[in-house]
Amino acid sequence: MADYDLIVVGAGAKAAGIATKVHILNSLGLAQLSMLVIEGTEVAASWKGRNGMTSGEEPLAVTPIKDVGFPYQSHVEFGEAGEAIDASLAQFTWQQHMIAKRRYARWVDAGSPPVRHRDYGEYLTWVLSRATEGVEHLGARVTQVRLDEAGERWLVEADEDGGTSRHAGGALVLTGPGIHRAFPHEPAVVDRVFHCDSKRNEFARIPEDRQCDVAIVGGGESALSATMFLRGLRPRCRFTIYTPMLPMSRGESFLENRVFSNPDTVEWGSLDLQTRRDFVKHSDRGVFDPPSLAVIAYDDRCGFVTGRVTDVGAAARGDGVRLDYESPEGTVSREHDYVANCTGFDLLAQLRTLFPAPVREEIERRAGPLWDQPAGGEAPIGRHLELVGMRPRLQVPGMAGLSQGPGFANLGALGLLANRVLQPLVPDYLTPTNQSHRVAQ
Ligand SMILES: Cc1cc2nc3c(=O)[nH]c(=O)nc-3n(C[C@H](O)[C@H](O)[C@H](O)COP(=O)(O)OP(=O)(O)OC[C@H]3O[C@@H](n4cnc5c(N)ncnc54)[C@H](O)[C@@H]3O)c2cc1C
Repeated sequence: MADYDLIVVGAGAKAAGIATKVHILNSLGLAQLSMLVIEGTEVAASWKGRNGMTSGEEPLAVTPIKDVGFPYQSHVEFGEAGEAIDASLAQFTWQQHMIAKRRYARWVDAGSPPVRHRDYGEYLTWVLSRATEGVEHLGARVTQVRLDEAGERWLVEADEDGGTSRHAGGALVLTGPGIHRAFPHEPAVVDRVFHCDSKRNEFARIPEDRQCDVAIVGGGESALSATMFLRGLRPRCRFTIYTPMLPMSRGESFLENRVFSNPDTVEWGSLDLQTRRDFVKHSDRGVFDPPSLAVIAYDDRCGFVTGRVTDVGAAARGDGVRLDYESPEGTVSREHDYVANCTGFDLLAQLRTLFPAPVREEIERRAGPLWDQPAGGEAPIGRHLELVGMRPRLQVPGMAGLSQGPGFANLGALGLLANRVLQPLVPDYLTPTNQSHRVAQ
């Protein structure tokens, strides 16, 4: 069985950031790392428009120049070597990708507009095809993760066409947004309920030849993405977006952006929990990105309702769904033809499916209570984006937003994310504290 320093589940944005750094650290002779990336669908599956969540045409809500190396401050984790690392990253930038595709000048002359999800997927694919030193890929779905007999290494089981393969790793990184949050609805209406991770072709169930009324539940990125997609797919439909609070556009000033790029500038970890929660709410979760919001602002087909949806049942008038929601006047019901659950993703729910019960118990024995946390609860995540107390390391950047900085849960700082994940694996002399010690000697 092959053994790696690091196994990454999912060949998406985070894997691209980490693979790039592994490639560079190895190429510069600063480390000798081995990494396996296991992808169940296709490289950059979440972005290309063939696998659900996006049609590929929706705009990316972050500028692509926040690419796999961003924020290019590797000196923080790797001291004097950081400059050489960041210089080497030049070969993996968004600009370099666009230059290689001969599209750079055109994009700049157009005012560097937002790019589509599929363009971003193309970029990630290009990065992963070039980040090769010490990086291996496996096309297989990870079905189960256990500990070895000594309890010191991860054993990852992956299903592919030819059967199941097993791989050992000293650390495990889990990527992806998770699976959709539970959404209470009666079994009878299941055909009329979509989720934020429903495959985009499932939405073809909505009739094309007549006006339909679709409820979209949620006030964040996936609700906006579903609205944008459905407006194009079914131009005759009307959309009602249910948000728990008044819909807000995302805070994107210099100050907010800086916290995404470098949470240390505000000593993120020392802020109290409520301050961190408020920041995430205002700048990431449950907010719409301003350019997309501008597109639907004057669209008469889109309306907003403020209220928290509590249940979905069959409509009294026959076909359709009845939404119960809490409003200031109490519980109110309203009927629609279809409903899309865009209330968010639950990473913990996805993790539960990967670890069998004895492993889940062992993780809790080492790291404390975890599995019964409510969706969105705060798991104890450390500086290397690892579950605190767990050895071997289990790194889940998507759960690190509250503990370590808002950019780790999204595409806000992929270069910093990679540095934090890899720092425990590089030789000690690369860490800045040890360097000053060495210089003093
Ligand atoms: C519709 C949508 C739009 C978004 N837009 C933005 C945006 O504009 N800006 C932003 O910052 N964030 C955005 N996000 C959030 C984004 O998903 C997160 O930033 C995410 O964490 C991206 O990086 P990733 O590598 O973790 O996941 P991904 O890029 O999604 O990669 C995860 C990969 O894991 C694979 N996989 C999953 N399970 C398994 C398994 N068991 N075995 C093998 N492979 C597996 C998947 O096929 C996928 O390829 C968006 C999310 C959604 C759903």
